[in-house]
Amino acid sequence: VLECVESIGGISSIIQPGDKVLIKPNMLQGRLPEEAITTHPVVVEAVVNMVKDIGAIPMIGDSPGGPARGMESFWDITGFSAVSKRTGAKLVNFEKTGSYKKTRNNIDYRIAKKVIDADIIINLPKVKTHGLTIFTCAVKNMYGVVPGLIKTEYHKNAPNPSKFAEYVVDIYALSKPQLNIVDGIIGMDGTGPSAGNPKKLGMVLASTDGVAVDVLLCEMLGKSPMKIPTNRIASEQGLGEADLNNIEVIGDIPVVNDFKWPPNIAGSLDRIPPSIARGLMKLFWSRPAIDKKVCTNCKTCVKSCPVDALIENTPFPEFEYGECINCLCCMEMCPEKAVYEDKSRLSRLISRFA
Ligand code: SF4
Ligand code: SF4
Repeated sequence: VLECVESIGGISSIIQPGDKVLIKPNMLQGRLPEEAITTHPVVVEAVVNMVKDIGAIPMIGDSPGGPARGMESFWDITGFSAVSKRTGAKLVNFEKTGSYKKTRNNIDYRIAKKVIDADIIINLPKVKTHGLTIFTCAVKNMYGVVPGLIKTEYHKNAPNPSKFAEYVVDIYALSKPQLNIVDGIIGMDGTGPSAGNPKKLGMVLASTDGVAVDVLLCEMLGKSPMKIPTNRIASEQGLGEADLNNIEVIGDIPVVNDFKWPPNIAGSLDRIPPSIARGLMKLFWSRPAIDKKVCTNCKTCVKSCPVDALIENTPFPEFEYGECINCLCCMEMCPEKAVYEDKSRLSRLISRFA
């Protein structure tokens, strides 16, 4: 991590002694580091030490995806408590420290006070696939600066992937980190961001430009960068460099040619003439379902649903599909990986070519 940051000018080119530095890892759930859902604590600790060495004041903060009761257990399981104990870096609970209203593109957002009040923000994302946004790294990681269940409200207001990506990009712009350090040592492919497979990628990236990092990573992992809505929208809004010809890469790029992307079904339908696509839509569906062999009826999915489309029941929660907006928050938050995407035969067929 140190070598990587040195290669772009070193931490002293970004942080001054005495700065309050908010370090924002990915802490989607309280999960063990080896599950590759959260930023690895080794990376967090390396960054905390860099910040301390320059005489600045590090804090570690994030807000998990769903209802975050018992945040202390999240810190413990992810390994961030141990980092805090070893280094003295304070852990910040965004739910308890409040938020400011910030407006962008005529939409009001709540952003954690500690993020806005920090002198410097260091974004520490994990490289992962994502069922809704296809990819999550630097830009999407900043969505965690919205405290608690307010995040699910935004899902409700922006039910389709492109609209949701506009929200994600707004929040990135409102909390724009000065430095992005990517944990791509073990990423996640398949059905990320929580139910996929840990994938050895063997890379750490650092950049002051989070959009450039995301664009480069998509290219490296075999996905056309502009097929990812957050890349396209952030680039259209001039939030970073999206032209690969203008992105200078220092160091070696590992070759990864078997990264498994989730299907981009919306993108596939975009390529079909609208009259045919409308007819196909009746035969085409994909929706969340629960694997009853795995579900423990913990109700996390029920509490995470922004539109109350999941009803508490015994022995398992039940879906009200008429209400469901397909945001996949339930899949993202299920600690047992019991929620999967059920698909019609036509959806499965399209997925194979997506
Ligand atoms: S599906 Fe997952 S989150 Fe929902 S009740 Fe079952 S185990 Fe809990
Ligand atoms: S049931 Fe799941 S996918 Fe449907 S709206 Fe609720 S959280 Fe989103």
